[in-house]
Amino acid sequence: MDVSHIRPHIHRRPMSIRKRKTVGIDLGTTNTVVARNFETLPMEGGGCVMPSAVAFLPSGAKLIGKAARRRRAMDPRNTILSAKRVIGARWRSSYTSQFREHYPYDLLEGPDGWAVFKTRAGIVCPVEVGSTIIAGLCERTNCPVQDVHAVVTAPVGFDNRRREATALAVSNAKFASVRVIEEPIATALAYLHRSSLKYAFVYDLGGGTFDAAVVDCSSYPFRVIGHGGDPYLGGDDVDRTIALHIANRTLARDGWDLGTDAVTFDRLVLACELAKCELSESEQAAIAIPSVDPAAPESCGIISITREQLQQLTLDLVRRTFVTCDEVLAQAGLKARDMEAIFLAGGSTRLPGLNAYIESYFGKRPRTDLNPMQVVGLGASLAAARPAVAELLDPCA
Ligand code: AMP
Repeated sequence: MDVSHIRPHIHRRPMSIRKRKTVGIDLGTTNTVVARNFETLPMEGGGCVMPSAVAFLPSGAKLIGKAARRRRAMDPRNTILSAKRVIGARWRSSYTSQFREHYPYDLLEGPDGWAVFKTRAGIVCPVEVGSTIIAGLCERTNCPVQDVHAVVTAPVGFDNRRREATALAVSNAKFASVRVIEEPIATALAYLHRSSLKYAFVYDLGGGTFDAAVVDCSSYPFRVIGHGGDPYLGGDDVDRTIALHIANRTLARDGWDLGTDAVTFDRLVLACELAKCELSESEQAAIAIPSVDPAAPESCGIISITREQLQQLTLDLVRRTFVTCDEVLAQAGLKARDMEAIFLAGGSTRLPGLNAYIESYFGKRPRTDLNPMQVVGLGASLAAARPAVAELLDPCA
């Protein structure tokens, strides 16, 4: 007897009564985070933050995250970073032309006029890069996707097409449903949980982008009433500035040029990023030149950089962020002193000295109690988990 049609009777409670499984995702330009119920999910092997990088190897295999990022100078055309900059972007758009000026990829006009990457694995669209990153992170964090409802964050400046593309990257990773929330709203939500003040300013300085927003938090839904940013300003610029500084010093002191070979210079940039992060904790950090460039003569040894030097090197970059803050406040018709809270997001807000500048600009201390690299994902997880804030979600996705 064929019994394949007989299924055990499963009593299903309606979705509204059953507890929905939810996650929040911050698919960032530089890093990606997944969080559940206000906790970021740790990866096997440690850490909650995965670089948004995918490398296509000659063997046909793919690398994701940190291992992929390490290949960026060695195999630039097949190591895709910052794909978010062109997710949902038309070939004929300023996003694509700016991206092509900054990155070495083979970018082409794909079917229907989208910008796509040409890699050794064939044509890959930015949405696919996003799905690969999200699926990889879910695997590493043991985050189930089946029957799980996701909220993903998107910059305020994303139009509907770009929001939809971001949502598609998540739904391709097989989540049950996907909604979109704006990044500064996720940050404000993470800090406030519920409405308790009128105006908050979100200062978000990440790896590759600076975003500033005034959020009206007086009632649900929270609303962004002024926003702006610089899509090519962030921690990557700091790393390159330090690297140029170290390369100049090595050239002047030891007559050795670390800037002639792209792979060596990229290793120097990665070493400078580590030194930069160390300077949040210590007054001084050391860069061992022979470990950056094994061909360098013994005499190159170690070059140190101090916290004060880092502050000098980043002064101009920091000043540029406040020009944007002026514009954003003017757009909202408000003054710095009208902001009742300043919320920081983005790893680069840990730059030494930056908090003091923010405090003197706004006349109040910024909130730093949540990890700035995780706060956006944490806020998204709240929006996903709490039906009461569901109305915050952008209905476009
Ligand atoms: P995000 O885009 O928020 O993931 O932030 C990534 C950026 O934050 C990268 O440029 C990191 O180098 C930078 N970052 C992380 N930790 C620190 C730190 N302690 N000091 C300065 N920059 C940092």
